[in-house]
Amino acid sequence: MTTATTTWAIHGLDATDAERLRAAGGERHVAASSPGYPCRVCLRDAEVGDELLLVSHDPFTVDSPYRSASPVFVHARPCPPHEPSYEIPEQLARRQLSVRAFDAAAAMTAAAVVDGRDLAATLQRFFLDPSTDRVHVHNASRGCWAATARRS
Ligand SMILES: [Zn+2]
Repeated sequence: MTTATTTWAIHGLDATDAERLRAAGGERHVAASSPGYPCRVCLRDAEVGDELLLVSHDPFTVDSPYRSASPVFVHARPCPPHEPSYEIPEQLARRQLSVRAFDAAAAMTAAAVVDGRDLAATLQRFFLDPSTDRVHVHNASRGCWAATARRS
């Protein structure tokens, strides 16, 4: 589990990216069940009746052969961005995840498919490699980018 040696934090979309994606627009969905669609800004699953936009997001900040955009849900109305934290949001803990580590040049250094309850241990292991700059977390089944863990 998390310890004092934790050197990473989980980041969702920041307010700037969220606003840009909302402004560009996307497919509208209303959550019919709870937990519903996963918002990648507040990193919470939608409550019944929440309105979300399905948009396309590229989490890479530098060019890379691995660069790609994936579908992500965001609350249609502004929601409080997730405070970067070493705690694993419930939204991630309850899903099967594809976890992909990259160095500063965005070359992949490690990858695994894990149960979300094992995400913290996987991140801890990947960040033991000093070349790991960030780790992208995706839903294993549908491929949606879920969050990025960055060295802190
Ligand atoms: Zn949200």
